[in-house]
Amino acid sequence: MTAIISKQGLRVMNNYPKQRIVIAEDNVFQRGILRNQLANLGYMDVLDAASGIEALTLCHQNKIDLLICDLRMPGMDGMALLRHLSTMPFRGSVIICSALEQPVIDSVLLMGQAFGLQILGSIRKPVSATRIQALLTKQHYYSIQVKNCNNSIVTLDDLCQALDKGTIKPWYQPKVSFKNGEFLGTEALARWFHPEKGFVPPSEFISLAEQNGLIDKLTDSIFSQSIQKAHLWAKSGLSINLSINLSAQSLPNTHLFDSLLEYCRQWGVNPKMVTIEITEGTFIGDIGRALESATRMRMNGFGLSIDDFGTGFASIQQLTTLPFTELKLDRSFISRCYEDKSSMAIVQYSLNLAKQLGLKSVAEGVEDEKTWQILATLGCDICQGFFSARPMPENELSNWYRKWRHQVYDMKLFEHL
Ligand SMILES: [Mg+2]
Repeated sequence: MTAIISKQGLRVMNNYPKQRIVIAEDNVFQRGILRNQLANLGYMDVLDAASGIEALTLCHQNKIDLLICDLRMPGMDGMALLRHLSTMPFRGSVIICSALEQPVIDSVLLMGQAFGLQILGSIRKPVSATRIQALLTKQHYYSIQVKNCNNSIVTLDDLCQALDKGTIKPWYQPKVSFKNGEFLGTEALARWFHPEKGFVPPSEFISLAEQNGLIDKLTDSIFSQSIQKAHLWAKSGLSINLSINLSAQSLPNTHLFDSLLEYCRQWGVNPKMVTIEITEGTFIGDIGRALESATRMRMNGFGLSIDDFGTGFASIQQLTTLPFTELKLDRSFISRCYEDKSSMAIVQYSLNLAKQLGLKSVAEGVEDEKTWQILATLGCDICQGFFSARPMPENELSNWYRKWRHQVYDMKLFEHL
């Protein structure tokens, strides 16, 4: 994909598919601003609607790719418009644009999702071009995914072959210390680049594996490949932790755990340097079984992390019963904690809880310096997010590390110490 620089200096992807956009907004001035911002980003096919009814008619008569929707409009308001759209064969994405308080907008976003609409997010008024661009980029990737799904590019056969040939590889996302920027570990994430069909989104092949009884095989393959890398890191004197994900389905599978132990023995990797991440939802079912597996992992020295914390419904009792060593805060609270009071409350609560229970805290989804500073000040231990590093193939880690050390130095991230 080629990038060009617009007059405003924003990066614009100039080969996005042609989009037809509807702006539903009763205020002429606000419509004008949005239209201009979209034109600056290269989107010229824009239709105006001064009311909910007009927008509904436009969406009915045309194939619309994106609706930018105000909430307060005379007659049919934004919420009623979304409800009507959900009953039509409307396939476009939706961005909410409003000056209302964030909790109100958040409820509308949830409502839209519950209606089954593709909601990209919200833009606060006054509208910022950067925010529009971020949401439109998200839409671009969504349209690729939808295309992939519609064409069912990944078949079960493809998956079986990839597993047999070992072409699904672990990529590694570095984790660094909030305290001093130190490189502490990586999380191994499964990535699949099909030779003809290109990048396959993990959500797609992981659920395909789960639905067809192949998840243990996939997990085993990622384990064996990443433990070999952990061996090489240790051999080169790099003392970093390896985090690996275990599907809820695989937790009771003792064979899978035995083979993980065996890989560690075979490659001389101390289980203390390996953390097993389990999603919070796992513990809703059979707590006895979960407790048995989790305790066995801890007995053998592995670290145990509760992944995506805050998105499931783990009770405090479960958290204290199970022998966790790490609490991983979900990205949905981190990525906008400074602009949303409820997210900030959950972040502070979770960090306190981790501290009280003696667990290491990890923040996922740290994307900018402002979020970094907040989490560092709140005393979070470990950062994992695009701000410090994206997931990458193993051979790019050393290059990243060199750049990261410069970034840490240049940005004076640790002046507060
Ligand atoms: Mg994880």
